[in-house]
Amino acid sequence: MFRYSLLNFVLTVMLSISITVNAQKINEPRTTAEWTATYQPFRIAGNLYYVGTYDLACYLITTTKGNILINTGLAASESQIKNNIETLGFKFSDTKILLTTQAHYDHVGAMAAIKQRTGANLMVDAKDAEVLTSGGNSDYELGHYGTSFKPVKAGRLLHDGDTIRLGDMQLIMLHHPGHTKGSCSFLFTVKDGQRSYRVLIANMPTIVTDKKFTDITAYPGIASDYAYTFNAMKNIKFDLWLASHANQFKMHDKHKPGDAYNPAAFNDKPGYDTALSDLNKQYDEKIKKDRRQ
Ligand SMILES: [Zn+2]
Repeated sequence: MFRYSLLNFVLTVMLSISITVNAQKINEPRTTAEWTATYQPFRIAGNLYYVGTYDLACYLITTTKGNILINTGLAASESQIKNNIETLGFKFSDTKILLTTQAHYDHVGAMAAIKQRTGANLMVDAKDAEVLTSGGNSDYELGHYGTSFKPVKAGRLLHDGDTIRLGDMQLIMLHHPGHTKGSCSFLFTVKDGQRSYRVLIANMPTIVTDKKFTDITAYPGIASDYAYTFNAMKNIKFDLWLASHANQFKMHDKHKPGDAYNPAAFNDKPGYDTALSDLNKQYDEKIKKDRRQ
């Protein structure tokens, strides 16, 4: 009896220590009500669906050989994404490929858990691979928060222009660095009974740091990477555009829960051009301000 109790006690202490260690280890710097609120999933166009939270955009692309999931929100978003996928009538376990637009905790928070649960192959922009395996620790800006998401290792490293294939689907990865070293966008075609749509899931190049670009020793090429990305993003041809955050492409103006299927709602090249040129202005102003300091 004594032995049993002692063993039990030791095990309980060990368990609580490991839970405490795990809880301390992952430190999501900030979450907002819009990031955590649930959102009714919907069909965007053809075999492309929105399965994210109110603002953290996650996308499901179904294929003849299983599904592709792009972005996984915060750590706590896992059950919301799973529910959303199932609400649409698909199986969570059919997720075969995992992708992300950037290695920040609000887009890869549940990545390790979803990878483990589904056994899917994670493919990431090669330049974000190291930050992913460090759980955000080595990020040039958010690294000072420590581990902001559960570390996760990719099975395939992607480079600009690489193709991701699954069943009848092909996605092109576009390297759009700056926001993170390996931020990227995806370009692909989806079909419904009527027609096909060229879709861009864009990682908008917002600036995360208040530091002078030249002071960021952990990312020496940051200024030229942003300049490259603004230029590259101006020349993409697409029918529909989406982004990493719902607010970046004004999703809530374009779609309300329960709305009928309407891919044309996301046909908004002017909105894309405006969003991109606004960010480009912010970048230009930052470069000027950096020079004055
Ligand atoms: Zn970010």
